[in-house]
Amino acid sequence: MAMKDEQQPPLHILFFPFLAHGHLIPIADMAALFAARGVRCTILTTPVNAAIIRSVIDRANDASRQGTGFPEIEISVVPFPDVGLPAGVENGMALTSRGDRDKFYEAVKLLREPFDRFLAVHSHFDAVVSDSFFSWSVDAAAEHGIPRLGFLGTSMFARSCSDSMLRNNPLETAPDEPDALVALPGLPHRVELRRSQMMDPKKLPDHWEFFQSVNAADQRSFGELFNSFHELEPEYVEHYHTTLGRRTWLVGPVGLASKDMAARGTNTLSPDADSCLRWLDTKDANSVVYVSFGTLTSFSTGELRELARGLHLSGKNFVWVLRGAGAESSEWMPEDFAELMERGERGFIVRGWAPQMLILNHAALGGFVTHCGWNSTLEAVSAGVPMVTWPRYADQFNNEMLIVEVLKVGVSIGAKDYASSVETHEVIGGEVIAESISRLMGNTEEGDAIQKKAKDLGVKARSAVENGGSSYNDVGRLMEELMARRSSAKVERARTADGL
Ligand code: UDP
Repeated sequence: MAMKDEQQPPLHILFFPFLAHGHLIPIADMAALFAARGVRCTILTTPVNAAIIRSVIDRANDASRQGTGFPEIEISVVPFPDVGLPAGVENGMALTSRGDRDKFYEAVKLLREPFDRFLAVHSHFDAVVSDSFFSWSVDAAAEHGIPRLGFLGTSMFARSCSDSMLRNNPLETAPDEPDALVALPGLPHRVELRRSQMMDPKKLPDHWEFFQSVNAADQRSFGELFNSFHELEPEYVEHYHTTLGRRTWLVGPVGLASKDMAARGTNTLSPDADSCLRWLDTKDANSVVYVSFGTLTSFSTGELRELARGLHLSGKNFVWVLRGAGAESSEWMPEDFAELMERGERGFIVRGWAPQMLILNHAALGGFVTHCGWNSTLEAVSAGVPMVTWPRYADQFNNEMLIVEVLKVGVSIGAKDYASSVETHEVIGGEVIAESISRLMGNTEEGDAIQKKAKDLGVKARSAVENGGSSYNDVGRLMEELMARRSSAKVERARTADGL
């Protein structure tokens, strides 16, 4: 626990998350983590997004009231800009069409104005932890003299890959073949992806420009926060500091700071949640594979059918989280799979929001089929659960490489297509899915080695956030720097007032 400085009011940090679960969840966790160290934390967001994190913040505040007496986390709300989206559509997960997505990104740009107004009234913050997706916040924070800390919410590995990609654009000179292997220059490991697994600036010029501005804004910031820990990717911590000359603090896994593992990230937990956990209680240790793809990823009917076949063929117990169109209809469901589900012994389907942290940390869990979103990845790492990797887009192919090639805590399913729309994904056959699960969870030399590595990494992850651990110390280091900055700013103001 940090010593409270009796002379100084506590640090006050503003957190400004992007409007999607994968960004809101770690920011809410991070606020809980800093509050537990005596920092006053305010989260600024829009009404619907505030409702999504309210319960987990209330739990953190309850814990503070009962024990530590440290400052309560506040949530401040600004209206969601009117861009013609239906009322209540303010979050990435609620978007169902291309048109809505475009309007949503228009609203994201328009948030600059209320953010500016908020800072004009509350210019006393010691720092703003801004989502990196709000690249404009770097200028807004500078105008108010507040240091900005960028938070993109991915791994240092993926961030380093993205930096190499944006600097060098290796696709420009690579053969125009989807299977051509393209190397990312300047990284600690030899990192090669298929052309088809990368964001192509020719096909996605807007995305490319967006990430250029994100990277540039983070470079101009006071520094960057990572939901990661030193022991996980030490070469990339070194690369980021020494080669790229960027200032970072690794404060994760932040999910371990959550005071409400079930309701983390939702105000509407699936009605299946309790029975799922009870069902898991009936299963042997390490016998169940958990299948979930985060909050934004969709699968075509053909993919769902093959996934069902694969789970059946694997012979393993499974919990499968279904959301969106797949959850509403069962047309894709093979007949024998429907019969298997009716018997209820081998599989459990969760429709809606699953208590992922509780599931991953259940003793029955033996593997996780994941899209490699960074939150899910790190949650599996913290729980010591190995992964079958099935990336789709964004940072996911890079995270897959970290999991499979660098950390060796997973098996790749062999996804080849970088795309956020379902139509363009190759349908991976049930046999391949079953084989990947067996490689991970079957009693083979390969599976045993992966499981052991995952368990060891889980121990390291949990130690990192304990008193004296690397992430614990990084939080302390940042607090000291911000406190020192506050003192020198005060001296500077006094000198200016004295006309020196
Ligand atoms: N999550 C959850 N229950 C669900 C679906 C998602 O708790 O049913 C949480 C998951 O634990 C993770 C986040 O939502 O913290 C998803 O973030 P990730 O980076 O893995 O994927 P994204 O949704 O951003 O693609």
